[in-house]
Amino acid sequence: MTDLSAIIADIVAEMADAPERGKVADYIPPLATVDPMKFGIAVIEADGTCHLAGDADEPFSIQSVAKVFGLTLALGSVGDQVWKRVGREPSGTAFNSIVQLETERGIPRNPFINAGAIVIADILLGRRQPSEAIAETLRFVRALAGEDGIYIDDGVAADEQRTGFRNKALANYMRAFDNIVHDVDQVLGVYFHQCALAMSCRQLALTGRYLMSGGRNPETGHSIVSANRARRINALMMTCGHYDGSGEFAFRVGLPGKSGVGGGILAVAPGKASIAVWSPGLNERGNSQLGTLALERLVQRTGWSVFEPL
Ligand code: GLU
Repeated sequence: MTDLSAIIADIVAEMADAPERGKVADYIPPLATVDPMKFGIAVIEADGTCHLAGDADEPFSIQSVAKVFGLTLALGSVGDQVWKRVGREPSGTAFNSIVQLETERGIPRNPFINAGAIVIADILLGRRQPSEAIAETLRFVRALAGEDGIYIDDGVAADEQRTGFRNKALANYMRAFDNIVHDVDQVLGVYFHQCALAMSCRQLALTGRYLMSGGRNPETGHSIVSANRARRINALMMTCGHYDGSGEFAFRVGLPGKSGVGGGILAVAPGKASIAVWSPGLNERGNSQLGTLALERLVQRTGWSVFEPL
């Protein structure tokens, strides 16, 4: 067992005893019924060495972690045109907030809040049918991970659709500013299916490898995005990846990271590792309580914070 395997095994043991696990998202039954004791972590090093511990092979709903892959696809499709419709500033507001859209004339603060990801879904829809845009997203994450087992949970997507009144409000409001150009229901269909991607920590860490290695898949050497673009996606994950908890995450962990209400976090140690962690209980900002604590401890023990002197 390498040191890293020992470190993450220790972290899993520590998390099992944690007194405060946060609150599992309860807005849809498939999330509300997840066992709060679940905990998984996967660390894939730049040389491909994979370290797994806990429930690292159990699929969970990645929810807003998928916003990273949506943004990557949209940048590939329309390039920097994305930034005419979505900003690059932290919002300092909740993931589903509508307030800034009025003063900012329908331009969401960043692509990692719901409003921003809905605009990204509009871009991904392009001139296609929603089913094609959804299939493209699924193909993309499967190719990044090199795993065909990744799937979209249609039950989760249907529940998102049934309960997503705030997302519908965001989309309609941005439509009024002409920042949604396609049929609102079709755009939301793309967004809700993206939220419903199910992946294990291992699959999520595999998918995120291009962000640790300058935009390339380290296994095949294929370029997914340019090095410059990978750096910028990482910068946005650092500044905006945890909603109004992004400053706290940078303070405690010091890595680019993106969370989802399913309790997953993808974190990137550039040049060193792609890391996925899953613990369903959320803190008051909607980010995984123990996932954050686990990453904080991992970074303390590895020195992987991007603010660590080289
Ligand atoms: N499906 C959730 C929503 O759109 C995603 C939010 C999240 O993961 O933070 O409300």
